[in-house]
Amino acid sequence: MDDIVIQTDKIVKTYASGSNEVHALRGIDLTVRRGEFIAIMGASGSGKSTLMNLLGCLDTPTSGSYSLDGVRVDGLDRNALASIRNQKLGFVFQGFNLLPRTSAVENVELPMLYDRSGRKRDTHALAVEALKRVGLGDRGGARPAQLSGGQQQRVAIARSLAMQPEVLLLDEPTSALDPEMRGEVLAVLRDLAGTCTMLVVTHEMAFARGVASRIWVFDEGRLVEDGPPAQVCDHPRSERARAFFKAAG
Ligand code: ADP
Ligand code: MG
Repeated sequence: MDDIVIQTDKIVKTYASGSNEVHALRGIDLTVRRGEFIAIMGASGSGKSTLMNLLGCLDTPTSGSYSLDGVRVDGLDRNALASIRNQKLGFVFQGFNLLPRTSAVENVELPMLYDRSGRKRDTHALAVEALKRVGLGDRGGARPAQLSGGQQQRVAIARSLAMQPEVLLLDEPTSALDPEMRGEVLAVLRDLAGTCTMLVVTHEMAFARGVASRIWVFDEGRLVEDGPPAQVCDHPRSERARAFFKAAG
């Protein structure tokens, strides 16, 4: 266990699609240490979101093993997975999914109020603290419609942080934002790097290169690169990754 927080062995995910099978992940071996910041890249359809859903215990693998924080979680039933998600995982998606009639601080506080893990906490104080960490300490009273897209996504990040997850999973957190708002969200993620384990699917090359401790590149359901940014970006081992980085500029 020690400092390994995620370990997978030959994870496979195959979807049934009519009479066909879609091989979304074709045997993925991963090890993530506590506190790492991993940027996940690869073309559309390469399996990134499928991986995030599996690592996030939102779905189960077709085969292969997955240990999260020292516990085998592949093969657990839905209730057990829901409990693990609640205790150990945070998610940020493209869409922010904030409740529209509810203030920012209440949006951050709500998941803590529904938390049945028995943790006793001052949920309001934690919500305020989480908003401060994303630079919105003074906007807690604002409703989502009064905030920019970038600010709404920062509230969504605060909502995840407040639950004190072991691992924060972000699937294209800036893809739905106008370019001028991406920077503020990326800056928040850069500031959070190292405070908890973070896995971020992103197409932001400069960000990945500057912030990630490691970059993974996926191609057609396979992990084709896994290494520090300088190695992966400048000296990719695979032809597919070379082509990907060339196309991404
Ligand atoms: P990415 O996030 O890298 O764009 P995905 O993980 O979303 O890739 O998709 C990987 C492959 O799996 C794609 O071919 C996609 O069409 C397919 N896929 C994803 N989700 C499903 C699903 N629920 N049912 C069937 N096929 C799916
Ligand atoms: Mg995706």
